Amino acid sequence: MTTYDAIIVGAGHNGLAAGVHLASRGWKVLVTEAAATAGGAVKTLELTEPGFRHDLAAMNLSMFAGSAFHKTYGADLAAHGLSFVPAKHCFASVFRDGSALGVSTDLAETSAAIAALSQTDAAAWQAMLKEFSDTAPHLFALLGAPMPSLSAVRTVWRAWRALGTTRFYALARLLVASPRGFLDGHFESDKLKAMMAAWGLHLDFAPDISGGALFPYLESMANQAFGMVIGKGGADTIITAMTGLLSARGGTVLTGAKVARIITENGVAQGVELADGRRFYARKAVIANLNPKLVFGKLLAESATPQAFNRGVEDFRPGPGAMMIHLSMDALPDWTAGAHLKHYAYVHIAPDMQMMSRVYAEAKDGLLPVEPALVVGQPTALDPGRAPEGKHVLWVQVRVLPAQIRGDAAGIITARDWDSAKEAYADRVIELIETYAPGTRQKIRARTVHSPLDLERENPSLIGGDSLSGSHQLDQNFLFRPLPGWSRYKMPVKNLYLCGAATWPGAGTGAGSGFLLAKMLAR
Ligand SMILES: Cc1cc2nc3c(=O)[nH]c(=O)nc-3n(C[C@H](O)[C@H](O)[C@H](O)COP(=O)(O)OP(=O)(O)OC[C@H]3O[C@@H](n4cnc5c(N)ncnc54)[C@H](O)[C@@H]3O)c2cc1C
Repeated sequence: MTTYDAIIVGAGHNGLAAGVHLASRGWKVLVTEAAATAGGAVKTLELTEPGFRHDLAAMNLSMFAGSAFHKTYGADLAAHGLSFVPAKHCFASVFRDGSALGVSTDLAETSAAIAALSQTDAAAWQAMLKEFSDTAPHLFALLGAPMPSLSAVRTVWRAWRALGTTRFYALARLLVASPRGFLDGHFESDKLKAMMAAWGLHLDFAPDISGGALFPYLESMANQAFGMVIGKGGADTIITAMTGLLSARGGTVLTGAKVARIITENGVAQGVELADGRRFYARKAVIANLNPKLVFGKLLAESATPQAFNRGVEDFRPGPGAMMIHLSMDALPDWTAGAHLKHYAYVHIAPDMQMMSRVYAEAKDGLLPVEPALVVGQPTALDPGRAPEGKHVLWVQVRVLPAQIRGDAAGIITARDWDSAKEAYADRVIELIETYAPGTRQKIRARTVHSPLDLERENPSLIGGDSLSGSHQLDQNFLFRPLPGWSRYKMPVKNLYLCGAATWPGAGTGAGSGFLLAKMLAR
């Protein structure tokens, strides 16, 4: 019988980050993964045709590139093949009148595009960017601190002292503002506001939801200041590099190894039992890099944890569902707004606040939205090696969909289960792209569609296709993530820890929770 220091359940990037750090500190680590390949929501696969590599879920690796984990292990990971491709033209939105607005790392270019809409807004954008250079270190320190913690309190105190009361209050207000409230307070152009607000939909924030301003602000300013990166050859570059580094440090990643039960004895987590009956034991820690809804009352008996805790887990709300449509293409879309749009990593089709509010309300009511909100990723514009010469892949993410379908807001699709509805809904999505880029349909060679249900089948932590592993609205974020009182990864069973997107600092490829937890354990 092999005994490890730590067993990590789930080889998503957070689990791997935890494994790399613990193994680097001399711990004997086993990572068990149910799927045939490691990576969780970060996988690159030939989903349509041979030679066409598609990022199944995450495509944008800026969070990983800017993370504390990457800062610590970047050189080691590079030695194991980690490689990024930077995007100069990061994201753009297209509008109903055939125009577009985008952010390029060339400030003069972005400013000129904004100035064409409003000189005042161009000046406000530059002023916001200048303020960002002062506030970003405090914000990123807060987002990278355990929550709650003395270091988080110190960060807040330092921000107050460095910025002064007025600017500190403005920053504090940003944390709780809604996208619309914040954007109306800073800009006059509806197009600029819509371009930024679209980022709210990447999380769980329609324009009027409190706490939703932060992500649009951070993405807009960070893309302007630092740009965006994707993985060379695919987002899985981070997974290949982390698994390689973990093995080099003596760790083991076991794929096709679904954990069926966490073994406890006298209230202490001892190890795991796989679905095939194999058992592995851990001396110091069992780490579940999973949505808590998969752990408590599932891998652990309900009686193992207090009732109030179990109720909290039950109440942990998923965000809305997502759908992924992967296309192999003969050419990139010919955007009506201009050929320059072919250079952008992301093109958002979410042209105004009204449709963002509507799509969110429809999805929350269980309806297939009439006009879906789309993120059209063009990875081969930056990294042509992902497709055969001259060909392309398109990564289309449909944000904000119902997990269970009660109806179609357009009154057209009659199916009420995702397996029957997904192709018809994907047709609606392609039709919408066609209105902003006529002729796109003719360029499609093949497509695969992952409905919210398919995403959950692929990775059970994405409940109802929720790409966030739990809503990030204020009552489930910061020191309330995943539950009030349980935001520091330690769970109510001794030696059992929870990390992953469902825990602070939440979803994305920033490896935050895995690294924070591993640092706490190895201290
Ligand atoms: C469609 C989509 C698009 C996204 N786009 C982006 C993006 O562009 N940029 C970005 O920064 N973020 C993006 N995200 C979010 C980001 O990818 C995730 O938040 C992040 O990858 C989660 O990593 P994790 O390690 O916490 O968990 P996960 O990646 O969810 O890993 C959990 C793992 O646990 C495994 N597992 C589950 N049950 C068991 C079991 N019983 N036994 C063993 N293993 C088990 C699963 O198979 C999975 O591999 C996207 C997410 C989705 C779904």
